Amino acid sequence: MSKILIIEDEQAIAELEKDYLELSDFEVVIKNDGESGLESALHNEFDLIVLDLMLPGLDGFEVCRRIREEKDIPVIMVSAKKDDIDKIRGLGLGADDYMTKPFSPSELVARVKAHLARFNRLVGVASKQQNDIVEIRGIRIDKTARRVYVDGEEKIFTTKEFDLLTFLAENPNHVYTKEELFREIWDMDSIGDIATVTVHIKKIREKIEKDSAKPQYIETIWGVGYRFKI
Ligand code: CA
Repeated sequence: MSKILIIEDEQAIAELEKDYLELSDFEVVIKNDGESGLESALHNEFDLIVLDLMLPGLDGFEVCRRIREEKDIPVIMVSAKKDDIDKIRGLGLGADDYMTKPFSPSELVARVKAHLARFNRLVGVASKQQNDIVEIRGIRIDKTARRVYVDGEEKIFTTKEFDLLTFLAENPNHVYTKEELFREIWDMDSIGDIATVTVHIKKIREKIEKDSAKPQYIETIWGVGYRFKI
């Protein structure tokens, strides 16, 4: 059940809004001034806020600004004056919608539903944006964050070490010559030669292998190159 906070000093209006929202199965809390409204908004988990502009104490502009510093839930601002809507827009307070009093409570309910649906869709999309991970046995490479974990412990890699490890891990069971790896990871103009590859493989092994002398991940294929074992 979605929880709505109404910050409104006119009790009759607040009660009317509450009745309509409750009929649509929302849980509703009313606060009658800016201070307690803000306090409640910041310290409780609401899904949406209906915020009146003219409030005793802290006004709706300030309340909206302070909520936006900490929360990204939908805020519908309500005002008795049409002019205020331009002002709200002009201030860029981050309100999601504006309604001018008097409005029909069913209009409010419709807008609340629309904003909640939209917000939930956005949050759903965001939570699905997972990092691009390569995982082979105890090694976990987070390509998005460019981090490497070995048996859950983070190891620090230089840029080229990271690129080389990732390339090998993404193409396991394939033997690459040092020349191929050098071309793949370093620019053609890079200063260095295939010995650079050997040095980097050694560094990577020190970080991922339990025993560098008996590598379990990056195998040396004598006379040819390297292979990442599955
Ligand atoms: Ca008011």
